[in-house]
Amino acid sequence: MTNTFENAAAYVAEAAKAAWNVPGIGADVARRPVKSVGIIGAGTMGGGIAMNFATAGIPVKIRDTTQEALDRGLGVIRANYQRSCDKGRFTQDELEARMGRIEGVLDMAAFADCDLVIEAVFEDLDLKKKIFGELDRIAKPGAILATNTSALDVDEIAAATSRPQDVIGLHFFSPANVMKLLEIVRAEKTADDVVATAMDLAKTIGKIAVLVGVCWGFVGNRMLRARRLQAEKLMFSGVMPWDIDKAITDFGFRMGPYQMSDLAGLDIGWAPGAKTDFPVRDALCEIGRRGQKTGAGWYEYEGREGRPSTVTAGLIREITGAEPRQMAAEDIVVACLYPMVNEAVKILEENKAQRASDIDVVWLNGYGWPAETGGPMFWADQVGAPRILAAMEKLGADDPAFAPAEGLRRLSESGGSFLDLDFGGLKTASMRGKAA
Ligand code: NAD
Repeated sequence: MTNTFENAAAYVAEAAKAAWNVPGIGADVARRPVKSVGIIGAGTMGGGIAMNFATAGIPVKIRDTTQEALDRGLGVIRANYQRSCDKGRFTQDELEARMGRIEGVLDMAAFADCDLVIEAVFEDLDLKKKIFGELDRIAKPGAILATNTSALDVDEIAAATSRPQDVIGLHFFSPANVMKLLEIVRAEKTADDVVATAMDLAKTIGKIAVLVGVCWGFVGNRMLRARRLQAEKLMFSGVMPWDIDKAITDFGFRMGPYQMSDLAGLDIGWAPGAKTDFPVRDALCEIGRRGQKTGAGWYEYEGREGRPSTVTAGLIREITGAEPRQMAAEDIVVACLYPMVNEAVKILEENKAQRASDIDVVWLNGYGWPAETGGPMFWADQVGAPRILAAMEKLGADDPAFAPAEGLRRLSESGGSFLDLDFGGLKTASMRGKAA
């Protein structure tokens, strides 16, 4: 996509259109009918995902392991619908019609007649593989088997079945009934008609779909991790979480990384006693500060407004040993956002996205990147590759994980646009077949 756009808004509109285009998969690829959906796991994501289909008129069966978990999940769905109904968005009859399309089940065998089954259990590879093994025995031939994993290897999950061509990632975002973005993860063996069906289905349920490849965290979470790791480094050098958040919100995000962590729950990816890459987070979780839901996390809460916390500041001091310091907001932006651009270039180099603008679509619609800057790739053109390269050379000298991407070096020399970066793209199964 040549960057001749007059402004970010014109670009954002074009990028959104382009994301729907999957080279190699045209109208001639017959779609698989999806008239019934099964969902495994009635937790935060499973419930939200179920609502998308029920709202679109597609019947859903949702399973959890106990009646209690199932009742809780169905209760949350009803309460969510009731809130919208009370605001006048639809009638009580419509609410009942939607709830009538959702059937709670306890037995996996209930999925035998589903056209699509989406797994949304805990983020645990072994558990997911076990479930896909079971699904393989139960699901009818031709059923699409999808995982909502946030980051795990979809190829490995697919390999737990005898039909990897039917397996795909459908990465919904939280809250799944609200967030527009859907990362559709094409695994190594996913069949073209499964990709095509998933893209169409995304439209049916009102999502914005972006096709991505298999790598840790796909496009969105992989780049988010780069930002999170950099924020952590800043914290270890004495910069306070609220100062980092302020720089990111001043840039235009609605929330900074630590506010987001408080909202989502600090305990995602944590278990009691765990020693992760994020020791301050671990320590906060250990003392029960797990975010807004516990009334305290990085911040102190009365209502939704967070206040900087002396407890958090004390823990940071104790764990990092760093003297608290101030850092200019521009420097925080450089440290946190340039590495995301660098990671995006690596994603393109590894052909895990179809095109540079798709990365912007992911960040604009799934993570609140400020639209007025056009998304990380469009913004990177305004910053310029040489400046980003210079920053990454410094950060990379400190930590090889942040070494500049080769494509960034080349762009810096050639003076081209980030939007033109093209390393071959994400090939569909049939395109790869033809190339072989
Ligand atoms: P959750 O803990 O809220 O829900 C998981 C549910 O799965 C629980 O109700 C649990 O009882 C149920 N479950 C466990 N084993 C089961 C089985 N064998 N059969 C049926 N149900 C079973 O978790 P969540 O936040 O909804 O996450 C689910 C998946 O979605 C994870 O892979 C997660 O990484 C992914 N995800 C989460 C988010 C998020 O923000 N929460 C966003 C995107 C993707």
